[in-house]
Amino acid sequence: MAGEVFVICEQADGKLKIISNEILTKAREISAALGTELAAVIIGSGVEPLGQELSGWANKVFVIDSPQLANYSTDGYTKALGKLLTEQQPKLVLSGASSQGRDLIPRLAARMKGGFASNCSDLNMENGRLVTTRPVYGEKTYAQVALKGEGVQFISIRPKAIVPVDPETPMGGQVVKVEADVTPEDLKTKVVEVLKGIEGIIELTEADIIVSGGRGTKGDEGFKCVEELAMELNAAIGASRSAVDAGWKPHSFQVGQTGKVVSPQLYIATGISGAIQHLAGMRTSKVIVAINKDPEAPIFKVADYGIVADLFKACPLLTEEIRKLKAQQ
Ligand SMILES: Cc1cc2nc3c(=O)[nH]c(=O)nc-3n(C[C@H](O)[C@H](O)[C@H](O)COP(=O)(O)OP(=O)(O)OC[C@H]3O[C@@H](n4cnc5c(N)ncnc54)[C@H](O)[C@@H]3O)c2cc1C
Repeated sequence: MAGEVFVICEQADGKLKIISNEILTKAREISAALGTELAAVIIGSGVEPLGQELSGWANKVFVIDSPQLANYSTDGYTKALGKLLTEQQPKLVLSGASSQGRDLIPRLAARMKGGFASNCSDLNMENGRLVTTRPVYGEKTYAQVALKGEGVQFISIRPKAIVPVDPETPMGGQVVKVEADVTPEDLKTKVVEVLKGIEGIIELTEADIIVSGGRGTKGDEGFKCVEELAMELNAAIGASRSAVDAGWKPHSFQVGQTGKVVSPQLYIATGISGAIQHLAGMRTSKVIVAINKDPEAPIFKVADYGIVADLFKACPLLTEEIRKLKAQQ
C-alpha cells in the first residue's frame, strides 16, 4: 500500500470539519492523476463513527481513537500520526493550513525528513510533477513551488481554497482501526479548560461571508452595527488587530498576519484602513467590499467595491436593504 496519498482530517466535537472535505476533494484529483489510492486519517477520542462517514470519501480510512487524544496536543498527535505514517510510508500527505495543521504538519514533516510546502492556495499536477501555489510577500504575489527529492511530501492547503465536492459515488473505503500508543506521560502539556466559541457565531475560517470591523468602529458600542450587518448576511464577524488590541473583540476574531487567514466568497471591511498585515489575512477573498470614510484608505486598492462613507450610516442602511430583499423572497 506504500505510496498512497494521505489526508489528515480534522474534527471538532465528533463532527468532521469542512476543511477535511475541501482537502479530500483536491486529494481525490491528485491521487487519480498519480494513479495511487487515497487514504483519510481521522484522529481524536470517540471518532470511530467518523470512519464510516469518511469511507465514502477515500479508498481507506485510518481511525486513531484514544482518550489521550481527546484534546489536540502537539505531542500526542505527532506521536500517533508519526507512527502511522512511518508504518504506511505514503507518497504525499495533505492537510489543512488550519491552526492544527500549522502546528502539526511541519513537525511531522521534520520527523519523517520529508519536504513541506505550507499554506498553499492550490495544488496541481504539471508535466508529471506536483506544483503548489503559495501566496508570498504578504499575499502580494504567488510562488509556484515544486518539492524535490524522493521522500514523503507534506503540503498544507489553506481553508476555503478548494470547493468541496462529494464523490460521484461513495468510495466504500475500508476502515482500519489503529492503536494510538500514546500515554499520559507523552503529553508534556495539560489542557485545563477548553473555551468554546460563542454560540451561534460562525467560525471565521469556515465562513462564506465575513463582515469585519476595525478601529473606525470606535469601540464595542460602535461594533454593534457591524455585527447586525453580519447577522443579517449570516456571516462570521472579523476584526482588525487594532480592534482586538483595544479589547473590543477576542483574538479569535482577528484577521491578518498574526490572526486568521480567510478566503470567503465575500469580505466586507468596515472602518479598516487596509494595513499590509490585515491584507495578508483576507486578500484572497473572492469579492472584497470596503466601507471607509477616507477615500485614500489603502483598503480601496484591493477592494472590488468601495463605499466612501461613515460606517455608522452605511452599515445600518445596508442591513435594512438586505432585510427588505430577504422579505421579498
Ligand atoms: C508584526 C505585526 C503584525 C500585525 N498583524 C496584524 C493582523 O494580523 N491583523 C491586523 O488587522 N493588523 C495587524 N497588524 C496591525 C496593522 O499594522 C494595523 O495597525 C492594523 O491593521 C490597523 O487596524 P485598523 O485598520 O482597524 O485601524 P486604522 O489603521 O487606525 O484604520 C482605521 C480606519 O477606519 C476609518 N474610519 C474611521 N472612522 C470611520 C467611520 N466612522 N466610518 C468609516 N471609516 C472610518 C479610517 O479612515 C481608517 O482608515 C500587525 C502589525 C504588526 C507590526
